Amino acid sequence: MVRTMSGIQPTGNLHIGNYLGALVNFVELQQQYESFFCVVDLHALTQRPEAAVLQRAVREVAIGMLASGVDPDKATLFVQSHVPQHSELAWILTCLTPLGDLNRMTQFKDKSAQQPENINAGLFTYPILQTADIALYRAERVPVGEDQDQHLELARETLRRFNFVYGETFPDPQTVRSKAPRVIGLDGQAKMSKSKGNEIGLFETADETMLKLRGAKTDPARLRKSDKGTPEVCNIFSYHGYFTSAEQREEIAAGCRSAQLGCFDCKKMLAANMEAVKGPIRERAAVLRSDPARLDDILAAGADKARAAAEATMQLVRERVGLRRKD
Ligand code: SF4
Repeated sequence: MVRTMSGIQPTGNLHIGNYLGALVNFVELQQQYESFFCVVDLHALTQRPEAAVLQRAVREVAIGMLASGVDPDKATLFVQSHVPQHSELAWILTCLTPLGDLNRMTQFKDKSAQQPENINAGLFTYPILQTADIALYRAERVPVGEDQDQHLELARETLRRFNFVYGETFPDPQTVRSKAPRVIGLDGQAKMSKSKGNEIGLFETADETMLKLRGAKTDPARLRKSDKGTPEVCNIFSYHGYFTSAEQREEIAAGCRSAQLGCFDCKKMLAANMEAVKGPIRERAAVLRSDPARLDDILAAGADKARAAAEATMQLVRERVGLRRKD
């Protein structure tokens, strides 16, 4: 069965961008592919989080995945650091990756700008650990957002290099694009992210969401309710595309263009439609939080399955590179 692999970094609470861009996709992918989904806590170390904060964030991301519909009976859900083979393969691939390839990664420059006081080597070699994450499970389908295209191309080049040097070992990982590859934040400009402070939290209540939506950017040309709007240029209308029925969207678009519908009412409709999705997720998350032992069991079982698959790959890799004879 074809495998898919993806991870979510435990930095800050999950938001609507994570849900639409990744989690919805995971739930679909687990029906078609042998799926490995992990909380990438090793990647999070590049931001040097406090230990307790990181541990809490790891659990919250796992809870968010489960509450959104990732089914541990269908997919292998685990924490990256519980499978030490990730680090082992990352080192082997690091030794195969030309410095020039990493120098071209634009995300390193972006991330360095975001944390100028902590430009560590892990930020630079981050895409190699991502390559190891994929390669360890010999995944052929990788769900990524547009901002990860360059890293996935680097992964393909690195794995082709490995195959050329050591013999055919890894398949070529192909991109699987979600229906929401780039969800813009409430500022209407940058991709939704916790670090930009432009996010709508997945676990936020309806009131909290409405409070944020009230200040969100709309059609910049619509200064008064009496101004006719252009829904196509409005970020709020783009959110309706994910949460609102086609019929209601048509009504909203018509009301916006004719100035019959004000932005406040439009946002109220959006908040209600978002709540219809977020409310049940929030409730399932609360149930999961109330039973930490169950979450521990799910993650332990996932780590066992992931380690078995990872070790099978590593035995082959160690033999190929000359680190250990195959028994
Ligand atoms: S009515 Fe809705 S779609 Fe139109 S500008 Fe206001 S928020 Fe945007």
